Amino acid sequence: MITDPRPLTNMRRPIIAGNWKMNMGPEKAFDLMDNMLEQLDAIEDVDIVICPSFVSLETFADMFDGTSLFLGAQNMFWEEQGAFTGEVSPLMLQSMCDYVILGHSERRQYFHESDQDVRRKVDAALSHDLMPIICVGENLQENEAGRTLEIIERHVTAAFEGLDQQYVNKCVIAYEPIWAIGTGKPATGEGANRVFGAIRRKVADLHGDTAAQEIRIQYGGSVNKENIAEFISQPEIDGALVGGASLKPGEFVRIVAVTSQAKRMPAPKRK
Ligand code: PEP
Repeated sequence: MITDPRPLTNMRRPIIAGNWKMNMGPEKAFDLMDNMLEQLDAIEDVDIVICPSFVSLETFADMFDGTSLFLGAQNMFWEEQGAFTGEVSPLMLQSMCDYVILGHSERRQYFHESDQDVRRKVDAALSHDLMPIICVGENLQENEAGRTLEIIERHVTAAFEGLDQQYVNKCVIAYEPIWAIGTGKPATGEGANRVFGAIRRKVADLHGDTAAQEIRIQYGGSVNKENIAEFISQPEIDGALVGGASLKPGEFVRIVAVTSQAKRMPAPKRK
C-alpha cells in the first residue's frame, strides 16, 4: 500500500493492470492468481495491478501482503456510506486497495455513467488514498467520424479540470478505444502513441507541462503477449490495461516481462 507521494520524476514507471471483469468467484480467482503470483512478484521495474471482482478483494489483499503487487477494484461509488443498495464505497476499499478503475467503457455503456459521474468518483478515490485508473476512449462510430481527439479531450477535461495539482500524478489514464476492447483488433502502436500525445497536451493545458510529462498513460484494447512490445516501445505509452489476456497466467506474465525488459526503472515505495 502506498503512503508516500509518488516521487516527482520525468521517468515514468511502467504500469500493467489486469482487469478481470465479472469472471470467477473467490476460489477460482485464488487458484488463477496463485498460478502467477510468484512469477509476477519476481519481475522488477513494473507496477503490476490486479483488479479482480469485489468479492475477491479481501482474499487478494491477504495474498499480496508482502509482495510487490498492487490491488485494484474495478469500480466504486462516490459516497462513503448510506442507502445505496448494491454499491461499494471508497471507505470500504481504502484499506484493501491501491487503485480503482473508473469510467471503463463498459460502465459508461451499460450503467450509463456520465463524465460527471466519473469525475465524482475520481475525487472520491483521491480523497481516500486510492489511485484512479481513468479510462478514456472513443467508440467505432466516433473513430470513423474522425472524432477521436474531441472525445478524448472531453473525457480528460471532465476528469482533470480544476483537480488539485497535488493529485494529478496520482492518477493513471487508460486510453481504451472501445472498438479495440475484446475484439482482437487492437489499435496500432503508432496510432495509439499519437492519441497519447494529444492526451498529454490536454493535461498540459489543464495542469502544466510537468504534470503532463509525469502522468502515466496506459493503452488498453486487445493487448496480448504478441503485440505488447509494439505498444510499450512507443515513447508516450507507459503500460497497458489488459482484459482477456490477464486471465491467462502465462500470457499475462509474458506481457509484464516484456514491459519490464522494454522500460527499466527503480523499485516503488509501498504503504
Ligand atoms: C478492458 O476491458 O479494459 C480491455 C482492455 O479488454 P481486452 O484486453 O480484453 O480488450
